[in-house]
Amino acid sequence: MLNADLHCHSAVSDGVLAPAAVAARAAAMGVDLLALTDHDDLGGLAEAAVAAAAADMGFLPGVEISVTWQTSTVHIVGLGIDAANAALADGLAAIRGGRDARAERMGAALEAIGIKDALAGARRYAGNPSLVSRTHFARLLVERGCAPHVRGVFEHYLLPGKPGYVEHRWAELGQAVAWIRGGGGIAVIAHPGRYRIGRAQLQTLIEDFREQGGEAIEVCSSAHTPEQVRDIARLARHYGLLASRGSDFHAPQESPVELGAVPPLPEGLTPVWQRFI
Ligand code: AMP
Ligand code: MN
Ligand code: MN
Ligand code: MN
Repeated sequence: MLNADLHCHSAVSDGVLAPAAVAARAAAMGVDLLALTDHDDLGGLAEAAVAAAAADMGFLPGVEISVTWQTSTVHIVGLGIDAANAALADGLAAIRGGRDARAERMGAALEAIGIKDALAGARRYAGNPSLVSRTHFARLLVERGCAPHVRGVFEHYLLPGKPGYVEHRWAELGQAVAWIRGGGGIAVIAHPGRYRIGRAQLQTLIEDFREQGGEAIEVCSSAHTPEQVRDIARLARHYGLLASRGSDFHAPQESPVELGAVPPLPEGLTPVWQRFI
């Protein structure tokens, strides 16, 4: 089967490798079709596309859009998007503006528990000054000895209810799907197994997503257990959604799974990449 990795990050968002290095690494790992899906920013796509072509690897321009659905943050991946589409570019620029204000509040919340110069420190880890994420704060807190690794920092500081977490309103689900489709892309629910919502609510999310024009769901992800993969595969079949596969790779030492290294899609699903090859 084709080794498609349709979810990963470069230093344009919260990954650590340059876009060209992500593409070169994916090709070296045996990936046949890669989508770079940085959070809320399209700035790495041109560079990654050139590197993918040089390595003779297929490439899809992508993005991972931050969305607030009901009271939860969910991520919607766009595949095969048009980076020149104005509605998409403007929508993402607005989200990045919100990120700046949120980063200020996160910095203040961490200062309040004694972490000095938190925002300035996080900015040093951000490869893109207009995109500061919780991951950049997490890398700073590892440097400061607050936890041994990024995952530990999230558990103790950055997840809902923890001292560095601040509430934030992202884009609406319908907006994100419309921006993706307006640029000719396919919208995908990213890592559904990660959301802290019940089964009934997950089904409501899928129903809302489909009504708004969403067409695909990530079945195989480094965030999913084998049981979750089976369960989400069932949901994909039940709702007639295309199935996606992605490592959500961020960094060589940090990410649980290498580029291209998630399991293959279970039987009986229509791979989302059939739309593009
Ligand atoms: P943000 O968009 O700024 O809220 O940051 C979200 C990013 O934080 C995700 O894309 C992941 O890269 C990372 N993240 C979220 N939860 C965790 C976790 N429990 N452990 C490690 N990284 C996480
Ligand atoms: Mn991330
Ligand atoms: Mn995500
Ligand atoms: Mn991601």
